[in-house]
Parts: sequence; C-alpha cells; structure tokens
Amino acid sequence: MKKILIIYTGGTIGMVRTPDGYAPKSGYFRSALDAIPSLHSPDMPEWELYEKEPLLDSANMTVTEWNQIAKLIAESYDMYDGFVVLHGTDTMAYTASALSFIFENLGKPIVLTGSQIPLCEVRSDGRDNLITSILIAADEYVHEVCLYFGGHLLRGNRAMKYSADGLIAFHSPNYPLLAEAGIAIRYNSDALWPKPEGPLRIRLLESFPIGVIKVFPGIQFPLFEQIMTEKLRGIVIETFGAGNIPGNGSALLPIIRRASENGTVLVVCSQCPQGTVYLGTYETSSGLTRAGAVSGYDMTTEAAVAKLYYLFSCGYDNETIKKMMERNLRGEMRD
Ligand code: ASP
Repeated sequence: MKKILIIYTGGTIGMVRTPDGYAPKSGYFRSALDAIPSLHSPDMPEWELYEKEPLLDSANMTVTEWNQIAKLIAESYDMYDGFVVLHGTDTMAYTASALSFIFENLGKPIVLTGSQIPLCEVRSDGRDNLITSILIAADEYVHEVCLYFGGHLLRGNRAMKYSADGLIAFHSPNYPLLAEAGIAIRYNSDALWPKPEGPLRIRLLESFPIGVIKVFPGIQFPLFEQIMTEKLRGIVIETFGAGNIPGNGSALLPIIRRASENGTVLVVCSQCPQGTVYLGTYETSSGLTRAGAVSGYDMTTEAAVAKLYYLFSCGYDNETIKKMMERNLRGEMRD
C-alpha cells in the first residue's frame, strides 16, 4: 500500500470564515478531512497529515517557509511514496518553482495543490484537488515538483496563477500539461521529467536581495537607479514582447550597464505569458545583452525569481550564475 504525506501550510483550502474574511485556523483542517468519506475509501492510498505552524495565507510565504517545507520532505523522504503540499494559490507557483530547484534528482512526486473555495463551503473545489493530488502522488509516473489544479497537472516551475476566481486557476503557457484528470488520469509521458539516476540532493535557499521591475509606456528609468545599487544581487526585468524596452533603451541601458558592473545579475523575462525572449530581434532589445543582461527565454517570472535565489545560494560567481540563468536546469525553460 502506497503512503503519502500531506503537508498543510495554509491557504484557502483549509480556511474558515472569520469577521475579517477567510483565515486559516489551527487544528480545523484535520476535522475537515475527517468529514470527507472518499479520503478514507479503501481505493485511496494510506496518507498522513502534517499541519505546519503557523498556518499562512500564501501571500506571507518567504524563503524560510520554502526551506521548512523542503526540510520536512527531505527528512521524511524514505518513509513516503509521494508528497502533497497544500498551499494558498497566490504564491503557489513561486513555492513550486523554489522546491523544483531545491531538490535535484527527485525520484518521488511532490504535488502542490489548494483551492479557490474553502473546504468549509459546499461548492469547494478543494475535495477534487486534494483527492486527485493524493492519487497522482501515489502513482509512479511523476519525478518532479508539479502543481495540480482544476483537472490539470502542470510542471511546477512552468505554472503561473492565471485566474483570481476561476476554478482552473493555473496555466502553463510555455509547457504542455503533465496530465489531465478526466474520467481517468491521463499522463503525458513525453512531457514528464525522466526518473533520475543519481541520489537526491537538496540545497536550501538563502534570502538574497533581488527585485522585479515591470516596464510600461512612459516609465521613468532614472527613478529605478536608486534601487539598482551594489546591494541588489539580481533583478528580473519584465519587458514587452520578445524582450523590448521603451525609448530604444537610451535611458535604461546605462543604468543596466552600471548595475551589471556593480555585480547585479539582470535577467530579461517577458510580460507575455506565452512565447520567449529573443534579445536582438528588435533594435529595442539588442542593447540589453551588450549592457550585461541575460535572457530568461520562456521562463516565468516566478521561476526566474526562484532560480536567482537558488543560484546565489549555491555560491557561484556572477559569470557562472549568468550562464546558468540561460541554461535549463529543472525543465523551467526550453533547452
Ligand atoms: N490568499 C489565499 C492564499 O494564497 C488565496 C488562496 O489560497 O486561494 O493563501
């Protein structure tokens, strides 16, 4: 009989109504699970629940909580066949991306899920999300960190929260679904990460000062010079389309050049969810590479942020980090 560890970190799925709106309540979640008969069916794998303390709205997740979840999984890795992490939807794609870098040679499924409607409500989407995630965690097809939501299994570091209120809340615009749950769970074997050869390795993250800037028409770049000091270790610049910045870059490029000389790693991602950054396709992007920025290609901003934390935590020098930002490590970008 397969055995799954469910880690409840907080988020809507286990929240209850309070006078200030939905909030997690310590100890409530176990009773909510006890009230779902299918979870105790003989067709379900055996599972155990670990409730994290304190329970969080995922807006409050930080590198510290990512490390705590990772440590818990690493410490119980040999005792379970798979892991389900119940998490708020708001930053689930960031946590999924971070876990994907923390673990190398992952041989067991780590499935993140949650819900848009709490289990305490009659129309909750949490029941299916939880039950199907447990079944996926007990199957032997997945060897990576993934995210299950609304019938879709996505690669964790390719996922992004797409809808604030829809029940299919996550998309993975640059990577196919890993599985679709209809009457049966249909896995897409071509898209799944292969079973690793080496032993599991874990690299906990440190909280480095990094940033994200989204460009917009009329942006006054000199204002950003004040945050681009030598203290800033890395920055993700969300550009238009395939990597374009306004004003032929005349205002931004000198700032980028200076930041790069100061030792900041600058990564270019696109504001378009689908497609890839190609620096040099247009005049408005060609100066970015010369100024020292690197391409995030088709990576999500969530994955780029997590990858920066990871590479800095590995202790590499800046040139190595720049090279590795452009290289596919865990399926987060095209090869
Ligand atoms: N604010 C909640 C959270 O991210 C939203 C949710 O879980 O859907 O924790």
